Amino acid sequence: MWRRAAFTGGIDPQTHKERTRREPIRQFPFAPLLLVPLKQHAGSAALPAVREGDEVERGELLGRADGDLSVPVHAPAAGRVERIALMPTVSGVMVEGVYLAPFPGSTQEVPSGKPCDLDTATPAAIIDAIADAGIVGLGGAAFPTHAKLRLPEGKRVRLLIVNGAECEPYLTTDYRVMLEQSADVVRGMRYLRKAVAADDVVLAVEAWASEAADAVITAAPPELGIGVRVLPTHYPQGAEKLLINALLSAEVPPGGLPIDVGALCVNVATVAEIGRLLPFGRGIQERVVTITGPGVIDAGNYRIPIGTPLRFALEHVGTDPALSSVFLGGPMMGQPLASLDVPITKGISGFVAFTLAETKGRQRPWPCIHCGRCVTACPLGLNPCQLGLLARHGEVELMRSDFHLDQCFECGCCAYVCPSHIPLVQEFRAAKAQLRRADSRTGNDVAT
Ligand code: SF4
Ligand code: SF4
Repeated sequence: MWRRAAFTGGIDPQTHKERTRREPIRQFPFAPLLLVPLKQHAGSAALPAVREGDEVERGELLGRADGDLSVPVHAPAAGRVERIALMPTVSGVMVEGVYLAPFPGSTQEVPSGKPCDLDTATPAAIIDAIADAGIVGLGGAAFPTHAKLRLPEGKRVRLLIVNGAECEPYLTTDYRVMLEQSADVVRGMRYLRKAVAADDVVLAVEAWASEAADAVITAAPPELGIGVRVLPTHYPQGAEKLLINALLSAEVPPGGLPIDVGALCVNVATVAEIGRLLPFGRGIQERVVTITGPGVIDAGNYRIPIGTPLRFALEHVGTDPALSSVFLGGPMMGQPLASLDVPITKGISGFVAFTLAETKGRQRPWPCIHCGRCVTACPLGLNPCQLGLLARHGEVELMRSDFHLDQCFECGCCAYVCPSHIPLVQEFRAAKAQLRRADSRTGNDVAT
């Protein structure tokens, strides 16, 4: 079924998905040393469950969840715990983690744990099993999924939205997961529907990915009544609030949650992982990642052990000698990485590498000419022009109080259309960071 994107603004950049969308998911080898952070998710870090020198099975607990907003961390390989120490992460922050050396001769089979039987498990037992599997939002947010499923008192899920609208240019992770793991996606939908007693379930994709949605629907027994919504390919269609708007014609109130309008939105790769792991009582040890861009030789979709150093991954796929920058995520919402010595973690769905040929011609910023293009492009109706001016004057409090900086989800549409090449999103991120620091000193709520 077709519906128009229910948001104004947005942009239509080149999708650059052709290079990898036909590439089947390939299994990655194990790096000689895996760096497994104990905090790969929103919330509290896991607590170490092993000691230096321990030998672990693949899938064994490396870290236990510390509280309700935390998840366990499982061993991505059978191996030896070399060290438990600080390690670099893509966020730029050093976190405690496990340096794990995989056993070279191991079969790396994953022993099964306690299965969660779909037919007999209670909703609470399914949510507990999702927590035990260490599942977080694989679309990038890495928010613990079980916490999302524990609904506030009096709230009801009218629509469970399985988000396959992979709108970020270059990335094809969700697309390949839908095509190749359609049975896992359907099983995951059934677990989730039972867990939250959702009235309806719908899979949302952009038009370019409609054949992947067909694969999922073909795998779903008709009596499940799973719906599909094919939305126009229009960036940033996959953003949670915009998707809810498109499907329910409802607006999540500022500062509110999707459940306030009866919606629950879960990324499709997360749903597939639930369907893949719960029947075997296993935890996340690997994930599918798109590695692509003009700087990559063997671009593709890879199933990569958690903790694989990015440098190892890039050596494996091969890079152009003129490699100049690697983006975590796509070029719109992603960020260039300061270091390649960081591990791949649960929330990472792709890397895009660029060469000097693409980056050397980047324009320097010019003054704002008040053309208003950024205002037209903002899908939330914010005023990026004014926000940018305030950012340059250090008026971060005013950005938040009068111009709704905390609503900005850094989609990059404003910067994309700006003829003066003003790095608006970078300015907004810096302002938010400044506000976070100020808030942590005063104990206010933190802008995200
Ligand atoms: S980055 Fe923020 S201000 Fe700019 S278009 Fe996106 S939501 Fe609007
Ligand atoms: S698009 Fe750029 S130049 Fe035009 S109003 Fe916005 S910030 Fe100014």
